[in-house]
Amino acid sequence: MNIHIDYHLESPCCGSAFPDGHWELECPRGDGAALITTRYARRQFCPREESSGLYIYAHWLPVDRELLGSAAPVTYRGEALGERLGLENLYITFSGYWPERGAMMKTGTFKECEAYAVCARPGRRDDKVLVVASAGNTARAFGRVCSDNRIPLLLCVPEDNLDALWADEPWNDNVKLVCTASGSDYFDAIRLSSIACEMEPFYPEGGAKNVARRDGMGTTVLSAVARVGRIPDYYFQAVGSGTGAIAAWEANRRFIEDGRFGDHLMKLMVSQNLPFAPIRDAWRAASREMLPFDETTARRLAGEIDARVLSNRKPPYAIRGGLYDALLATGGDVLAVTNEEARRAAALFQRVEGIDIEPAAAVAVASLEQAVRAGRVEREAVVMLNITGGGMARYRQEHAVVGQTPDRVFPPGAPADEIKRGLAGLF
Ligand SMILES: *Cc1c(COP(=O)(O)O)cnc(C)c1O
Repeated sequence: MNIHIDYHLESPCCGSAFPDGHWELECPRGDGAALITTRYARRQFCPREESSGLYIYAHWLPVDRELLGSAAPVTYRGEALGERLGLENLYITFSGYWPERGAMMKTGTFKECEAYAVCARPGRRDDKVLVVASAGNTARAFGRVCSDNRIPLLLCVPEDNLDALWADEPWNDNVKLVCTASGSDYFDAIRLSSIACEMEPFYPEGGAKNVARRDGMGTTVLSAVARVGRIPDYYFQAVGSGTGAIAAWEANRRFIEDGRFGDHLMKLMVSQNLPFAPIRDAWRAASREMLPFDETTARRLAGEIDARVLSNRKPPYAIRGGLYDALLATGGDVLAVTNEEARRAAALFQRVEGIDIEPAAAVAVASLEQAVRAGRVEREAVVMLNITGGGMARYRQEHAVVGQTPDRVFPPGAPADEIKRGLAGLF
């Protein structure tokens, strides 16, 4: 269904404003050193009663249509967990599958919010193929959304992460899956996607630079403010790229402009899974640049963490308007917790709230516990805990899920021309 949202794009690099419509990922005049942002004509937060699923927030999404099958994040007062942690005003924003709470994301994480926004953004090309590289959750979300809505999609995923690509039915054949062979990681999948994008039929989704991806993730904050009635004081989220936290900061600024929900910035308290914590390391060193690291060590450490989705080695941290700026502007911080702490937090969440959560979401819960224990969050503060994924065990219990079979598998270092020959004729 087509809808009309009045908005334009802006670039902080040169202050220019320009219309959306050509899948801009960077400022056409600038040098790509800053994230472009959306600016909506409608300054007042006003969920759309005529829309359904995620699109109730379409007044602050860069979209021109509503796709089928979407769901919005759900925020509720986390009394049981709050009591356990010693917090009086804890709000839990849940993206995933939890029917009793009205959370109906079939792919189980807030990556679904990104996919429904990106695939409804003007400038998409129906005559071309969207390319997405992912370690798992993003691929599962885009695969599902594109399959259901017949959008041509090429997914690039490491073969070792194929177990993340379950669904309640096989994807339609407008979605093709290509893998980098066992032993490879997310960065090999990204290389594969860049090589694909050199070919005529393919165009890149764009990651953090895609405004639809960020505003899609920002709906978690829209859901929270709608429920709480004001901007929270603290925002807790586990990060790999930090895109969700950047999005939260952007959404926060929209609420300040609205004026009815407060004029403060939530402190962004983001967290990583030890021993892989490159964002924490850079932030702790007060460095805008990520610190240099040894490739082999980074791969090894990334392999040791439970929350595999957090193993991003090139986050949009230094870029203007990126994570470093977001942390600085909001007085935020980067925390880190071990696998053991996160596992305990997941068990606690299951016990007191009654649903399974993703390892990454468990990292956020453990970081909140850590911050409260260290006296860094006041008892009466309004805290938004972003449970970025959950209910997947529940979903898989209730549905017979199937895996997906790759259409091509390439050795990690395969030469570009070999990859291109393999990709030609896929669509
Ligand atoms: C991707 C993902 C994250 C990290 O999100 P970013 O904002 O991109 O760093 C956290 N939790 C889950 C469940 C995810 O899938």
